[in-house]
This record gives sequence, structure tokens and C-alpha cells, in this order.
Amino acid sequence: MSSIFQSIKDGDRVALGKAMTLVESDRLEDREIAVQLLDLCQKESNQNFISFAVSGPPGVGKSTLIETLGLKAIADGQKVGVLTVDPSSQISLGSILGDKSRMNQLSLSDSAFVRSSPAGTLLGGIGRRSRELMCLLTAAGYNLIFLETVGVGQSEHIAWQLTDGFLLVIQPGSGDELQGIKRGITELADIIVVNKTDGKSSEEAMRTRGYYQNAIHYFSGQRTGWEPRVLNCSALEGTGIEELWEVLRLYSSSRLENNQLKAERTRQNKFWLSWSLGITAHHLLMAHPTVNQKLSEGLNNIDQHEGSMFKTEFEIESAMRKLTGST
Ligand code: GDP
Repeated sequence: MSSIFQSIKDGDRVALGKAMTLVESDRLEDREIAVQLLDLCQKESNQNFISFAVSGPPGVGKSTLIETLGLKAIADGQKVGVLTVDPSSQISLGSILGDKSRMNQLSLSDSAFVRSSPAGTLLGGIGRRSRELMCLLTAAGYNLIFLETVGVGQSEHIAWQLTDGFLLVIQPGSGDELQGIKRGITELADIIVVNKTDGKSSEEAMRTRGYYQNAIHYFSGQRTGWEPRVLNCSALEGTGIEELWEVLRLYSSSRLENNQLKAERTRQNKFWLSWSLGITAHHLLMAHPTVNQKLSEGLNNIDQHEGSMFKTEFEIESAMRKLTGST
């Protein structure tokens, strides 16, 4: 185990890739080894890194932005780790990911490591083992981590819980969304970026920035010692990237100076333990032969318009209570 760890630490990309595959495996034998490796990584590696969730609707330019921003950060001496969605796995997101950026340039850099998860394996946009992958990346010396989420279901909230900062990417002309459900997500943001501030969209993008700038005054910031910022940029043309990088650096040093990171990492770890166990409990219980069989019967009954759905659910619930010894 310590030789794998040493290879990862020494920058062996093949070893890192293999370790990632290992931690993503659900096989019990793999889990046992993976946990030993992760433990070593967590204990032995420098915790002086910062992680950002990059969130926003599909097509807004998250990957393009991560690439442009990542290259800027590398030029400034950083090592950039990215957890992203594999654009070739379009099954669960239809054609939306069709022209998704593959971060080709960033992937080629020795100072970057881009790990794509197939969209189908993501839980609401977050990988089942994102936290573990982040741990491996930091052990390999990547000190700036981007966690891209596809903005489905609860993914933004989970991404917020797992990272040190939240970067929300929006489209020009999306100010109206502030009225509705998007407000909740906007409130999570530490940095809001109006991307695609170029060509014909420039003016509208400036107006959108104005909307958000006004709106965030009414939101209570989620993190002490930081007032959320709103910026314009064009990930495609590279304009505004310098300013955005500066804000990210300011944000990072504000977290470090205020000594907030230690408390936040504790919070992240507590969240991950509960969330992850919730998923495991769900899988284990649903896969139990008794539950599995009763569920198939119940589903079959629904197909045949027989029996009572509520009664079936209660029967399965009772079986689960019995299995777990809960009353
Ligand atoms: P994601 O789904 O949010 O990751 O979006 P992508 O980064 O894959 O970008 C989706 C599409 O928008 C691609 O065709 C990009 O070339 C395009 N795009 C990304 N950023 C910009 C930008 O700043 N300006 C313009 N005009 N297009 C962009």
C-alpha cells in the first residue's frame, strides 16, 4: 500500500488513475484495500489545498471555464485537479452534453489531472466517490480542485457541502430566475460568473451581472468573512479570466486567513460520512433478497392492477424493520 501511495505522491499518473478506479469499485475486496490507501493519503498529505464546486445548467460553459481558468492557475504555479462529467456518456442527459467541452488542453498539461465520470454513474450530478477522488488528488499534490456538477436535483447542495467554495456559472439573461427556485442555488454561491460575455450577448451579460449584484445584497452570505462576488467573463475568448482568477485567489486566502478551512473540512467530513452511509444503507437494504423479492411482486401487482400499493409498501417496510431489528 505504501508503495502505491509513494507512486501517487511522486506524480505517477498511471498509479493515480488506477487508484481512482480502485476507490470507485464497489467490490468488498477492493473497498478494503481502497480504504487503507485513502487513510494513508489523508494522514500523510498536505491539507493546504482548496476545492471549488463549479455549478450551473448544462451548456452554460462550466467545462470551458474550468479549462481556461485551470490553465491560468497552472501558469500561476498551481496544480489543478478536476472531477467532471464524461461527455461521451450521454445516455442520462440526452443530447445536452453533445457539444460539451472535453478540456483537451487542460488534460494534456502535466500540472492537471482531469477525471471524468460517466453521467450515468453520477448521483444527482455528484460522483459516488467524489470525496475519495478528491483525497487522492490532494495526495498527488493537486492543490486546486474543481468539482463540476451538472445541476440536477440536490447536486448543488451536496457539492456545496463537499467543497471549500462554490462557483456558480450563469448565462447572460438569466436574471429572471432569481424570482424562483434558482434563488436557493444563488444563495449558495461565493462567486457568480456570467459566462459568454462576448459577441452579441455582451450587453445582456452586463445587465445580468447588475441584476445579480443587486440581488446578492439581500442574500445572507453563507460563509463568514466573505461577501459573494459577481463577475463577467468569456471562457471561450479568455476575457475576464484574469479578474476571476484574482477573485479565486482572494477567496482562497480569505478562507486560510480566517482559519475557516479546518472547521469546514470537519463539516465536509461529517456530511460525507452521513451522506455516503445513507447511499450504502439504501443499496444494501434494497438488494436484500427478501426486500428484492417483495418489491418485484409489488411492482408486478401494480402492472396487473392488483393489490394495494400502500399495503405493499408497508409490508416491505415491516420486512426492513425486521431485518434491521428496528421496531
Ligand atoms: P457545460 O455543459 O456547462 O460544461 O458547457 P461547455 O463548457 O461544454 O460549453 C457548452 C458550449 O458553450 C460549447 O459549445 C462551448 O464552446 C460554448 N461556450 C462555452 N463558454 C463560452 C463562452 O464564453 N462564450 C461563448 N460564446 N460560448 C461558450
